[in-house]
Amino acid sequence: MRYISTRDEDHQVSPGQALGRGLAPGGGLYVPEAFPNLSLDALLELEDPIDLSTALLAPFLEPDLDPEQVRRIVSRALNFDLPLTDYDGSARVLELYHGPTAAFKDVGAGFLSAAFGELKQTGRTIVVATSGDTGGAVAQAFADVPSERVVILYPRAMVSARQEQQLTCWPDHITSIRVDGSFDECQRLAKQALNDETLCDQLNLTSANSISIGRLLPQMSYYAISSLAAHRIHGSNSHYVIPTGNLGNALAAIWLRTLGFPIGKIVLATNANRTIEDYLKEGVWSPGETVATLASAMDVGNPSNMERLNHLLPELETLRNSVSAFAVQDEAIAAQIRSDYQAHGRIWCPHSASAAVVYQQLQRDPSEHWILVATAHAAKFHDIVEPLIDAAIPVPEALAAIFARPSRVQDMAPDWSAFRSILNRLHVSG
Ligand SMILES: *Cc1c(COP(=O)(O)O)cnc(C)c1O
Repeated sequence: MRYISTRDEDHQVSPGQALGRGLAPGGGLYVPEAFPNLSLDALLELEDPIDLSTALLAPFLEPDLDPEQVRRIVSRALNFDLPLTDYDGSARVLELYHGPTAAFKDVGAGFLSAAFGELKQTGRTIVVATSGDTGGAVAQAFADVPSERVVILYPRAMVSARQEQQLTCWPDHITSIRVDGSFDECQRLAKQALNDETLCDQLNLTSANSISIGRLLPQMSYYAISSLAAHRIHGSNSHYVIPTGNLGNALAAIWLRTLGFPIGKIVLATNANRTIEDYLKEGVWSPGETVATLASAMDVGNPSNMERLNHLLPELETLRNSVSAFAVQDEAIAAQIRSDYQAHGRIWCPHSASAAVVYQQLQRDPSEHWILVATAHAAKFHDIVEPLIDAAIPVPEALAAIFARPSRVQDMAPDWSAFRSILNRLHVSG
C-alpha cells in the first residue's frame, strides 16, 4: 500500500512513513492511493474481532508491518468491549466508550502507540491538539512509553473538568499546555509545528491527531465488526448516525463502506458548529468560528478531515448522496439526555445524545437497521449530565484511577512564538 497526499498525488510514501510523519509536506493529508480489494465472504467468516481487524488492516500496512505485527497492534488497540446494545427497540447503540479513557479515541491512540513500537519509530515528539478526549487517550497510550515525548494542546474553558484532569495527570515525558483559545487555534498551532522543518528535525515531530492515518485506519475496525455482526443476523446493510467534530470517526465509516462493507446511510450529527451541514446544503466550504457547546469534543468550526472526504468524493452531488449532516442545538441535546434516561434508563454523554436527536428526526423505514454511535461515557461529562437526569452516574474503574492522580499544566497564549519557545525548551532539555 502506498499513501498519497491530498494536495499532491505525486508525493507517495509507505504506511510506516505516513504514520511517522503525520502530515504530508505542504500541509496535505495522507490517503490510501487505492483501496484494496477485500473478499467480504472471507471476512464474514471471521467472527473474532481481532481476526477480522487484522485481516482488514494488514493490506493497509504492508509491506512495513507484517500480519503478525498488525495482530499485536490491533490486540492492543481493541483490548476492550465494543458492545451493540438495544436503544429503543428500533435501533442499536455501538458503545465505543469501554476503553481506558472512556472515549472512542482509545482505539486510535492505542493503535498509534503500538504501531510506533512495532515500526521501531522511537525518540519522537508527538504533538496533539485536542478538543478534550484525544489528548487523554494519547497520553494514556504513551504513559508507559518514556522513550517518546507527548505535547498536548487543549483549549481553556472548552473541556470538562474531568477531561482536563485526564489531560494533565501524566508523567514528565508528557507536557500539557492549556491554550487561551479554541480547538481550531490549537489545531493550527499543531499543524504549524509539523510544517516547521527545523523543529521537525530537532524533535522528530509527529502528529497524533485524527489527521494521522494511524488514528483513522483502526477506527474502521469497529464499523467492520458491527456491520458484519448485523449482516450475519439480518443479511442487510446497517445505517449509522455518527457524532461528528473533526470528521475522523465518520471518515473511517465512509472508507469502510468504500471497501464494500454492508453499510448503507451514514448520517453525521454535529453540534451547533454547522460547517458540514451548510457545506452539503450550499456547496460552499465556509468554516465558521468555533461555537462552544455542551458536546465540547465536537466544537470544531473547521473539520480537517473534510479535505480527505473531498479527495475521495470530489463531486458535490456524489458527496451529498454519500453522507448527510444535521446540526443539533444544545437545548435538543439536553432534552434528549433527559427523555432517554426517563424512557429507557440510557445515560448519554452530550456527544452521543446528538446522534439520538438526529436519529429521532430522520425519516426512516421500519425495515432499516440503524446503529447510533456512542462516542464517550457520560461520567466524563457528569457536570452536564447529572443535573439533567437528576441521578449520579457510576464512574468506570479506569476513569476513577485517573481522577485520583495529581495534575500539572502550563498556560499559553494562542500564538506561534509562544508555542515554538516551549518546543525549543523541550529540545534543549533533551
Ligand atoms: C472526538 C470526539 C467526537 C468527534 O469525533 P471526530 O472524529 O472528531 O469527528 C465525538 N464525540 C466524542 C466524545 C469525542 O471525543
